[in-house]
Amino acid sequence: MSARGEEPEEELFLVACGDHSLLYAPLRRGVASLNAAAIAAVDRYLRGGAQALAPGDEPVIERLKEGGILGGAAPEPPRSPENAEFLPYETTLFLTTRCNLRCVYCYADGGSRAERELPWEAARAAIDLVARNAKTCGRDNFILGFHGGGEPTMAWETMKRCVEYAREEARRLGLKANVHSATNGLLSPAQRDYVIRNFTGLNVSLDGPEDVQDRNRPKADGSGSFGQVMENLKAFEKAGFDFGIRVTVTAQSAARLPEICDYLFGEFKALKRLHAEPVWYCGRCRTSGERPPDPMAFSLAFLDAQTRARRRGRNVEYSGARLDSLSNKFCAAPGDGFSVMPDGHASTCYEVCDGDDPRSRIFHYGSYDGSRGEFIFDQERLRALRALTVDKIPHCGDCFCKWHCAGDCLAKALKTDGPEGHQGSERCEINRAIAAAGLEEMVELAGADAKGKGVEHG
Ligand code: SF4
Ligand code: SF4
Repeated sequence: MSARGEEPEEELFLVACGDHSLLYAPLRRGVASLNAAAIAAVDRYLRGGAQALAPGDEPVIERLKEGGILGGAAPEPPRSPENAEFLPYETTLFLTTRCNLRCVYCYADGGSRAERELPWEAARAAIDLVARNAKTCGRDNFILGFHGGGEPTMAWETMKRCVEYAREEARRLGLKANVHSATNGLLSPAQRDYVIRNFTGLNVSLDGPEDVQDRNRPKADGSGSFGQVMENLKAFEKAGFDFGIRVTVTAQSAARLPEICDYLFGEFKALKRLHAEPVWYCGRCRTSGERPPDPMAFSLAFLDAQTRARRRGRNVEYSGARLDSLSNKFCAAPGDGFSVMPDGHASTCYEVCDGDDPRSRIFHYGSYDGSRGEFIFDQERLRALRALTVDKIPHCGDCFCKWHCAGDCLAKALKTDGPEGHQGSERCEINRAIAAAGLEEMVELAGADAKGKGVEHG
C-alpha cells in the first residue's frame, strides 16, 4: 500500500510488517512504526491537509514532521541526465563460451554451447572506444572488465593481450586503466601471479565449504573445484590483492547460507565483499533440474547470515535490496553498460550472451563491424533501453523498494520490451522481505527520541 504526499514527487509508503505498519519516506530516509489510528491520521492529513485532521491527530503529524518524514520540500528523486550522449568509459568483455567448470545452475550453459571466442580486433575496438570516451569526458581512468558466458581466463592469451593493450593506451593518453574480472577461480599459479600483478580486483565465485562447492560447481571432468579455488583465494589474501566472493544459493543450500557466510569470513579475514544471490531458473537448470530457493527461505537465511556477519563487523550483500543507496537503475542494463559478447554483439545485460536468446531483441544494441573496425550502435534501441529507469516502470510505481531495487535485474523482469513489459519477478518477494527487515532495523536503531521510532495515536 502506498500513499502520495502533498508535495509534488513526494512518495510515502505503508509497509505492512506483521501486526504493525511502517511509514516509509525513501527519499528522506525516514521511517516510523505506526499503529492503525496513526495510519488513519496520516491518511487524513495527506488527503486534506491540517484542516482534515480529527481530534488527537495533530501530535502524530507533528511527531512525523519533527522526524523529517512529513512536511517541507520533497527531496529530488535519483535521475539520469536526459538525452545525454552515449559515451561509455567501461567495457566488459565476454571472451569465450568455453569453461572448465560445469556449474549445475550456469545461466550460460558454459562449456556446453558452441565454442566462440571474441576476436582480438573486436576487443581492441572496445578498449579504444572506452579509452577515447574517458579522455573526451575528462576522466582520469577507464575500466576494462571480463565476465562469463564461459570462464574468461580460458581465453588467457586474449585476456593478457587486452590487459597489456589497455595499459599501453592508458599510458599514451595519460589515463589509468582499472582492470577487473569475474572468474570461477580455477587459475594456474602463473595466471594467479599475473592477475595479482596486473589486475585491480577480482570477483570469485565460491559457493561455500567443500561439499557445497563441489556439488554446485564441479569441474568439467566431474571432480571437485574447491581445493584449487581456495588455494588461489588464500594466495590473493596473502598478497593483499583485492577480491570479493559471490555465493550462488540453490534450493539445497539455502538453509546453510548463515553457515556458509560464517565459514567464508572465518577463512578470509581480509574479505571485503561477500555477495549472496539466489539461483535464477535458466540455462543449465533446465537440464540439471537445479531449483532456485524458496524466496522466503532465502530471505530468512540471508537475514540470519547478515545479522551474524554484522556481529563480527562484516557484511553480506544481496543485489535487490540495497537500502543504503537510492538509484533509478539496478545496473548498467538501461543502456549505459558496454558489454561485448563472444559473437561481437554489444549487450547491456550480462545474462543475455547469445544472439539467439529471444531477449537479445531488447538488450543487444549494436555489434562490431569488422569492415569498419568499430562498433556500430542502434541508436533507437539504445534510447529505448535508456528510458527503462524505475520511475518509468508502472509495475514498480507503488513499491516501497523502488529506489533501492531500482526495478531489479531487467533480464529477469522484462517480458516484452518497453516499461510496460516489466512484470516483476520471483525476486520481488525477496527484495521486499529483506528491505522491510532493514527498515524495521532502522526503527529499532533510531531510539526513542529520534525519527523512526514508534508513533502511536491515542
Ligand atoms: S557459472 Fe561460470 S564457471 Fe560455472 S559453468 Fe557457467 S560460465 Fe563456467
Ligand atoms: S522489481 Fe519488484 S521489488 Fe523491485 S521495485 Fe519493482 S516491484 Fe518492487
